[in-house]
This record gives sequence, structure tokens and C-alpha cells, in this order.
Amino acid sequence: MRPVCVKCQCEMRCTKTGADIIVMSDGKPYQIWVGDIFGCLGCGVEIVTGWGNKPWKLSHEPNFDDLVNRLESSPSHRVEYVYEKPTPKGGNDAPD
Ligand SMILES: [Zn+2]
Repeated sequence: MRPVCVKCQCEMRCTKTGADIIVMSDGKPYQIWVGDIFGCLGCGVEIVTGWGNKPWKLSHEPNFDDLVNRLESSPSHRVEYVYEKPTPKGGNDAPD
């Protein structure tokens, strides 16, 4: 069963498989996961789901920052961010 948008009462559609999900900590990239993006055809809300069992890169691993930069600048990758608290999309700073 696909995720359901409660607001629109319909199943969401997968819009991207294998998106790069960067988990932020203290405003900096901390982990990179792979997940799927599902969207609602009604209201347009999108969610990340289909996470694996563990991140594929951690910030203490070699070349982590270079990898983040490559993903962020690659037109073939979709990168989304996960902050500890709600953050307006496009914001670079996690709220305090
Ligand atoms: Zn909806």
C-alpha cells in the first residue's frame, strides 16, 4: 500500500526513487540516506519514504563533504534535507 495523503484522502504516487536524503545536524550534513519521494496529486505535498536500514555515508567518513557537494551539484540527483525541527524549504539554517 502506498502512502496516503490524509488531507486529500488518496494514495500518493512515487515521483522519484533513489533520492539522496541528507540528514542535517547542527546545520551541517551528518548522514546520507537513500529514499523514495512520494507526492500527492491533489495538494502537491511530498514526503520521503522507503528509507533503507542505514545511511550509506556518515560525516566522519573520508570525502564526505566532497560527496555532498557532488550530489548537490549533480542535475541527475535529487537531494532533499532532513532537519531536526521544521524548516522552510530552501532554508540553510536549522531553527534553534
Ligand atoms: Zn494531498
